[in-house]
Amino acid sequence: MAEPCANGAKATDSKYDHHGLAFATCALHFQDENDPYGAKNAPIYMTATFKLPSATKVGSFLYSRFGNPTRSTLEKHIARLHDADRAFCFSTGMAALTTVMQMVEVGDEIVADDDLCGGTDRLLTSLVTRWGVAMKRANTSHLDEVRAAVTRRTKLVFLEIATNPLLQITDVAAISEIAHRSGALVVVDNSFMSSALSRPLDHGADIVMESLTKFMSGHSDAMGGFLAVRGEQLAKDIHFLLASEGACLSPFDSFLILRGMQTLSLRVEKAQENAQAIAEWLVKHPLAKKVFYLGLPGFPDRDLHFKQCSGAGSVLCFTTGDVELSKLVADGAEVFQKTVSFGSVGSLITLPCFMSHAAVPKAVREARGLPDDLVRLAVGIEFVGDLINDLDRSFKLAMAKLGGKEAPKYEPTAPTPYVYKPRFQ
Ligand SMILES: *Cc1c(COP(=O)(O)O)cnc(C)c1O
Repeated sequence: MAEPCANGAKATDSKYDHHGLAFATCALHFQDENDPYGAKNAPIYMTATFKLPSATKVGSFLYSRFGNPTRSTLEKHIARLHDADRAFCFSTGMAALTTVMQMVEVGDEIVADDDLCGGTDRLLTSLVTRWGVAMKRANTSHLDEVRAAVTRRTKLVFLEIATNPLLQITDVAAISEIAHRSGALVVVDNSFMSSALSRPLDHGADIVMESLTKFMSGHSDAMGGFLAVRGEQLAKDIHFLLASEGACLSPFDSFLILRGMQTLSLRVEKAQENAQAIAEWLVKHPLAKKVFYLGLPGFPDRDLHFKQCSGAGSVLCFTTGDVELSKLVADGAEVFQKTVSFGSVGSLITLPCFMSHAAVPKAVREARGLPDDLVRLAVGIEFVGDLINDLDRSFKLAMAKLGGKEAPKYEPTAPTPYVYKPRFQ
């Protein structure tokens, strides 16, 4: 089990037992049993088909939809990180989720958290319900709501390890107990924390899903998703669905994600350290009204979060009390890029109510405590002083604009990086 990490930093150095190794070491060294030459990196097997050893025999691989050596190396690597028996990689996170939803049948029920990633929300409300599956929504961080929703017809209980962007936490172990009593499976979307900080299977979940597009690939240059499970039957069922539906990850993207994962631990650690510093700076900022970050003392359900995850992650939010001010702060940022997603090396800034959550009706957003002036930061691995200065400058510029005044000459408040001056010229 992970040691709770008081300041949210260095979490991936915890004593998490990854086959006797720390996570950082385990995530870096993948095992490639498929390559005959001992290549240090995973070769990209750009082939759709494999030769048969004889007309009546199949070798290790037959057809890349069923399995491909590059994808298989990645799948085995992910399974190892979660102590899972098998992992399966899909073309996107949504493809992985769509496949898991195929496990239910007409007349079955799914109980899902009421605050989910926009894409998942759309899949559940607009697609899965059309298959004749009943969809029940509950706030999964309130166990009583889940107890009331789960019945004998419930086949899946679905939740996210921390909700985006308000960081609501669900007790995975308690939910698993409730679901298992009725024979339902628990699926946890782990994208927000990544495999570096969280292993939901250890807490009783049956299926862990992640969007590989986020922290695992980490460079906004590849898309993917995975499902990992313990137990041979569940693994066989999911492989059957993957091979039948065909939304498998390509060999090239498998390679990119394997490459990204070699620095996963470092990236997550650095981004988290930066997020902590920014959150602490924002708390003291007179224009930031409310700051949401799991690394801040007293944050709701922080203890529960650290019981099941080994770090606070690198996404945080704040309100300013004024939509126009929030918009100007985001627009004025230069180091923070205005784009969606998270988990990449570069820092991002968005107003969720105008982007990722624009499709959620305003009344629902308000009921969920998602105000229009909420600013979300997905923190990357830049020098933290530059990130803080960027926000500071943008706040000052925004206030000057709102007050109709000239922006004051910008004075950096955060430390500047060390500049090397040649000694001998
Ligand atoms: C991004 C994301 C997804 C969807 O993954 P894609 O790779 O974009 O298809 C699902 N769940 C969560 C929590 C995500 O952040």
